[in-house]
Amino acid sequence: MDTMQNLSRTHYCGNLREADAGKAVTVAGWAQKTRDKGSLVFVDLRDRSGVLQLVFDDAAPEDLRKKAGGVRAEYVLMATGVLRERTAKNSDLPTGGVELAVRDLRILAKSETPPFEITDHTNVKEELRLKYRYLDLRRGEMQQNLRLRHRIVKATRDFYDKNGFLEVETPMFIKETPEGARSYLVPSRVHPGSFYALPQSPQLYKQLLMLAGYDRYMQIARCFRDEDLRADRQPEFTQIDVEMSFVTEDDVMQMNEDFLVFLFKEVMGIELPTPFRRIPYAEAMARYGSDKPDTRFGLEIVDLSEPLRGTEFKVFAGAVAGGGSVRGINVKGAAARLSRKEIDSLTAVARTYRAGGLAFTRLAADAESSSYEKFLSDAEKQAVRDMLKAEPGDVLLIVADTKDPTVLTSLGALRGTLAAKLELIPPNSYDLLWVVDFPLFDYDEESGRYVAMHHPFTSPKPEDAHKLESDPASVRARAYDIILNGVELGGGSVRISDPALQQRMFAALGMDEATQQERFGFLLEAFRYGVPPHGGIAFGLDRLVMLLAGCGSIREVIAFPKVQNAGDLMADCPSPVDQKSLDELHIALTGNL
Ligand code: ASP
Repeated sequence: MDTMQNLSRTHYCGNLREADAGKAVTVAGWAQKTRDKGSLVFVDLRDRSGVLQLVFDDAAPEDLRKKAGGVRAEYVLMATGVLRERTAKNSDLPTGGVELAVRDLRILAKSETPPFEITDHTNVKEELRLKYRYLDLRRGEMQQNLRLRHRIVKATRDFYDKNGFLEVETPMFIKETPEGARSYLVPSRVHPGSFYALPQSPQLYKQLLMLAGYDRYMQIARCFRDEDLRADRQPEFTQIDVEMSFVTEDDVMQMNEDFLVFLFKEVMGIELPTPFRRIPYAEAMARYGSDKPDTRFGLEIVDLSEPLRGTEFKVFAGAVAGGGSVRGINVKGAAARLSRKEIDSLTAVARTYRAGGLAFTRLAADAESSSYEKFLSDAEKQAVRDMLKAEPGDVLLIVADTKDPTVLTSLGALRGTLAAKLELIPPNSYDLLWVVDFPLFDYDEESGRYVAMHHPFTSPKPEDAHKLESDPASVRARAYDIILNGVELGGGSVRISDPALQQRMFAALGMDEATQQERFGFLLEAFRYGVPPHGGIAFGLDRLVMLLAGCGSIREVIAFPKVQNAGDLMADCPSPVDQKSLDELHIALTGNL
């Protein structure tokens, strides 16, 4: 193998242009492709900036040409020569106007034939790409994604720095901080039988930094959550984590709205319209069937319960009488595009959200059909059509259930499915909005108790706080989520800063005094020493980059991601450890693994 001796790189491949013609140039990188035409050999050389054509023509010594002809894909090369303008230019390539007439070629490393070709766009299976992630990362597409990620992180730090925020690192080995998921545990060797948790977020530490007087904190923070992985979740992910003192929710929202405006301008050159819309949670659910509504298209949900409350049709009347509702959407002008069969597949979508079924009216030009109108009186039928503003050509879709959330979430899911299917979403549009006035609690059917909708440190609205014990379901939180194109980009809240209220909150979550002390004693104690009013937010960095890169998955913007079952296909982990390591940690495996 050759060495680099007496050679040092002068340029990156992708930056060379016609204006550089005549310069002595040394480049380095990986061979993308070799074309050997005997007296003329071409090698496309790739580095992180792009691709440059190397040419070995008859002016080059025979043995140099032969050496070039032996170059295979992904060999590591260094080449020196004179840059010249090409006679036949390639307008597809930024460097397509020039080529390097090589005088010295060094082969610094050989490569086996890679398991897939390294090209910008690829349809190689993702498992293979992840097993050989270091090769996948050579592709221009991945390089662009990671570069965008870097620019976003850089702009983020710049913005918060300019606004007086201090980046502080919080620990990775902590006492558990609940964010509603399971924590990853780290066994302690020196405290046999005891465990650290990896942070689900730096929540408590950032609050303690406020108590400590740091006033404005931010961190690009790695977080860990051991969830049953749903699509597009990672066990470790990154947040832009922010906390501020002496603020109300308006202050936090304004600062972070300014951040997003700055980021879009800086990184994408996009001017976002301000102020962002604010939609109360109840309205988001009622109109869009989601607490992260995508408002780039219509298909708004209409409550049809009133005119149907007294109908003979039991499915509708029963839903209302049982405390639920009947609601529908009008898919405008879709009769020609939604066949009966397609309506059946929409019914399947509604069913996955626990709806019993999907009632429809299809106002096709040739023949109207409906699954429910025959059961309604003329007045009821007309009322439904009027409320949904039905016109010829429309399709009306209706869900009825005794549980209101089932009606709403299934129609919400249908909105999304229909928008994608009917291509209702304008391309390159960014729809940013805040959802506010969240409930403080969620009722967990499984355990039969209330859980914090956000986390246990979120403050109730002062006017609702008296109902914490008597009517928890009706208490609203000082919480807000930021939504981009129907995706939750981040969320936060004004925190509880009164220790007595914090204890009432813990109690409302079913934690007795002893458990509170055992789990959060340090926080409650800290709160006795002067805690300022404070609040904050965290953005999901991976999602943010994914949306700005226009990718379909966060794995496309993470250098070394895990797959659905939390495994790392490249390093093949998690993996068993030897007995000695287990013994040192005082861990015995149960055997029924
Ligand atoms: N710690 C919260 C989260 O990870 C964000 C916040 O409340 O600031 O979702």
